[in-house]
Amino acid sequence: MIPLFEAYPRLAQACPYIPLGNFPTPVHSLPRLGAALGLSQLYIKRDDLSGEVYGGNKVRKLEFILGAALKRQAQDVVTFGYAGSNHALATAIYSQQVGLRAASMLLPQTTAAYVRHNLLRSWLAGATLHQQTTVPRLALATGRHYLERWWRTGRFPFYIPPGGSSSQGLIGFVNAAWELQHQITVGELPRPDVIYVPAGTTGIMTGLLVGLRALGLSTQVVGVQVADGQYASVRVVHHLGRRLNRLLRTYDPSFPDLTATLARQPVDVRPGFFGPGYARYTPEGVAAVRQMAEWEGIQLEGTYTGKTLAALLADARAGRLAGRTVLFWNTYNSRDLTAAVAGVDYRQLPPAFHIYFESADQPLEAQL
Ligand SMILES: *Cc1c(COP(=O)(O)O)cnc(C)c1O
Repeated sequence: MIPLFEAYPRLAQACPYIPLGNFPTPVHSLPRLGAALGLSQLYIKRDDLSGEVYGGNKVRKLEFILGAALKRQAQDVVTFGYAGSNHALATAIYSQQVGLRAASMLLPQTTAAYVRHNLLRSWLAGATLHQQTTVPRLALATGRHYLERWWRTGRFPFYIPPGGSSSQGLIGFVNAAWELQHQITVGELPRPDVIYVPAGTTGIMTGLLVGLRALGLSTQVVGVQVADGQYASVRVVHHLGRRLNRLLRTYDPSFPDLTATLARQPVDVRPGFFGPGYARYTPEGVAAVRQMAEWEGIQLEGTYTGKTLAALLADARAGRLAGRTVLFWNTYNSRDLTAAVAGVDYRQLPPAFHIYFESADQPLEAQL
């Protein structure tokens, strides 16, 4: 049984959940990068290994979201993101695995190699792919898709918000805090003073904060802003945190009421490493990716984890992490998609996506 359910048996009864991933994910030290930074206690949480075919942070959310979709007897799910969304891909792969049809409603983004992989792999997983250039057009296309599915199946699809950051999805990261607590207890790492995560829709950050505070741990969570301020902000963390806490207490009233604690929390959504926009690589982010590869042989990427490590490196160099136990949470999938998508012709995708295969990548791509 997952550690959160062991702690709250009534939650185990009431909260929909379906196992999809490989948990607990490993945690280990980063001795060479740590030494280079003068940090004797630098650790990494390997959520990149959370799934057999596709890892990354979205697997934790989908265990709870797809559990709820199946309990609702949905046949379809619909989710949203930018064209290269890791979340849309994870939703496509794991929906197919549990027998749900997935559709991804996508907005345009900067071209990058991973965008092509994600689109092709989503298509292989049987997902319906739509792209529209503006939010109102995407809303219209979504309405059409809902009607079409209702017409065919007699049911509307199950809605999954961008990034999988529904309250239901965030329970995955509350459980992650219990998983980490267990790894601390058995001595796999000391209790971290600070955890670095990307803040996209702030689901990871909010779920971890709620979990850590429910456990009585005061560990600081730094959410490095990697998406526009409308998605990644202190206000969003407070909002999602309240809703998540309410849902947990609906399932199990013995789960602590953290309203006051969360309202008092200094929430650290860190600007300054976002750069010119979502999925637009920065020199600091690319340099951080290369540092991790050189010192530890672990591959990060430029949209989320590189920018996050860049913030950690800057804090370390400024002396702000001296003597502290630091945990870098690796949220990006590390399973290689190259072989899986090798034979797929992109012209089978809807024409709106061809541009990602026919235009040049952003200049920093070559340096990753
Ligand atoms: C989606 C994603 C995130 C962002 O998580 P949020 O919960 O939206 O903040 C971080 N890292 C990777 C690799 C992701 O795919």
